[in-house]
Amino acid sequence: MTRYEGGKYPAPYVYSVSLACGHCDRPACVQACSYGAMVKDADTGLVLHNQDRCVGCRKCEQACPYGAPTYVKATGKIQKCNGCKDRLDVGKLPLCTSGCRGRALEFGDIAALKAAHPGWVDKIKAYADPTKTGPNVIFKPRPEAL
Ligand code: SF4
Ligand code: SF4
Repeated sequence: MTRYEGGKYPAPYVYSVSLACGHCDRPACVQACSYGAMVKDADTGLVLHNQDRCVGCRKCEQACPYGAPTYVKATGKIQKCNGCKDRLDVGKLPLCTSGCRGRALEFGDIAALKAAHPGWVDKIKAYADPTKTGPNVIFKPRPEAL
């Protein structure tokens, strides 16, 4: 979760945005990884990171426009949102979604989410150009976030 601030007195603003992996249609991280450690799962559409195969070269981190892969010094490897696949497999929602007290996050089929939220946008100030890789993320932003 990243916080953004702007505006001036008497109209300052602050908003928070979740910048976890967008499980892109054309994932730059997968293209950048020479070790098969980033894979687009054909069944779910999730982009999954395999810790066992990762050598920590950080090329995926450089390639991702959205800052999703994170290098962990302690392990020497990348860590990235796997969509809580283990939870999805047993019919549960990802932890970020079920744990959001404001109910500001939803997870599911992107076509269904778009249909359920008319007026959605796929670009806000805090988010890199979505035409690059096609992240499966939409927003219902406050006006100042556009
Ligand atoms: S958001 Fe970044 S890490 Fe996630 S699939 Fe897209 S390019 Fe890969
Ligand atoms: S850090 Fe790991 S997942 Fe990322 S490109 Fe290198 S081997 Fe692949």
